[in-house]
Amino acid sequence: MSDTSSLFSEPDVADFKPLILIVDDSPTIRLSLSRALQDEFTPVEAVDGEQAWEFISGDSRIEVVITDLSMPKLDGLGLVKRMRDSVVMRIRNMPVIMVTGDDDTAAREASFMAGANDFVAKTSDRVELLARLRAHRKLAVTLRELEASQRELREQANTDPLTRLANRRFFSHIANKELSLMRRQKEYFAVLMMDIDHFKRTNDTFGHAAGDYVLVQVAQTLANNVREEDTLARVGGEEFVVSSPYTNRLAAIVLAERLRKAVESLEIQFEGNSIPVTISIGIAMQPQDGDVLDTLLAAADERLYFAKNAGRNRFCAASKHHDELAMDMDVDKVCPKLDEVVGMLRHGNLRRLMPHIPKLLEDLIPLFELVNEESPVHIDVDQVREAIVELKAKNEN
Ligand code: GH3
Ligand code: MG
Ligand code: MG
Repeated sequence: MSDTSSLFSEPDVADFKPLILIVDDSPTIRLSLSRALQDEFTPVEAVDGEQAWEFISGDSRIEVVITDLSMPKLDGLGLVKRMRDSVVMRIRNMPVIMVTGDDDTAAREASFMAGANDFVAKTSDRVELLARLRAHRKLAVTLRELEASQRELREQANTDPLTRLANRRFFSHIANKELSLMRRQKEYFAVLMMDIDHFKRTNDTFGHAAGDYVLVQVAQTLANNVREEDTLARVGGEEFVVSSPYTNRLAAIVLAERLRKAVESLEIQFEGNSIPVTISIGIAMQPQDGDVLDTLLAAADERLYFAKNAGRNRFCAASKHHDELAMDMDVDKVCPKLDEVVGMLRHGNLRRLMPHIPKLLEDLIPLFELVNEESPVHIDVDQVREAIVELKAKNEN
């Protein structure tokens, strides 16, 4: 057997011929180049630089360009310059070979200056042409692969492989930048430390694989419940953290309560078992608790510990008495929304809630009326109205 390579090479690979764009206003030259290259490449022809640009932009399979220098509309130099200025990396890095006169040194210099990778003479033979193209294409492919593996490495360095969330390293990098911006703009910045409750028990009862599955589900749920501008990361075995710019304490409490509830309502099924899961959360704020990331994380960690001690499946946002929870000035003025009210109630933050009660009750009157209409339970709406008047009078004194 003389030709073993064709016998054993993969037909798909052997049949694949990279696309090459031949740009020349002369049909004769296009034809002769196409013929010379067609054994190894699939030639695509363009009659000038403008048409070439259209093809390059529209067909990502084109790998190499071989172009004439002088053409109508857009010439070879104009084409290569435009490619080198492209925002698309594929186009910016695509090899371009200029066809020049035999000893036209000025043209060759101009080609290089414009960003061409190489040039061939109009009189070059087929063997030389193919050798040049092969080499440039090979280099381009290698560079692309290198770029892809670098990107992958960068991603791996920043990502937790199990949950695909950011890791601690990446979190610190981003959160430090955000925090410094928030400091400069005198804006609030919240950090929430979260830890799965009794996770050791989950592993012991259902197995490590089930534990891993729970981690992924919790990670996804947290990711679905934070804002685009928040940064969520897995920073330990079953510990997560969120940083939230432009977020005051009340907003952070609402976020914490939303995350807590979302995890609690997960119905995780794994190999026939239904696995309950809850998290505890510690909240710290810039500027109230400090303006350095490590200080905020330490404060959040301490409060996470308080939340654990207080019975788990809850958040803690203050180090001392619960009433200090919502000391931000704006909290007193702005009436909290219903879910915020629930958060404050859960936290025993009643003193802060009191001034808002008349307004809250007033807002609820339509709900009371609906209850009276739709169910046998009766709420004395008139009495509620009287209570509101009394409370308002009391608040004004
Ligand atoms: P607490 O409510 O106080 O947080 O109790 P806990 O059991 O969650 O806390 P503890 O820190 O004692 O246990 C954490 C467990 O998390 C122990 C460890 O085996 C498990 N863990 C850590 N990383 C992983 C992981 O990647 N996969 C699984 N399946 N388990 C993990
Ligand atoms: Mg835990
Ligand atoms: Mg832990």
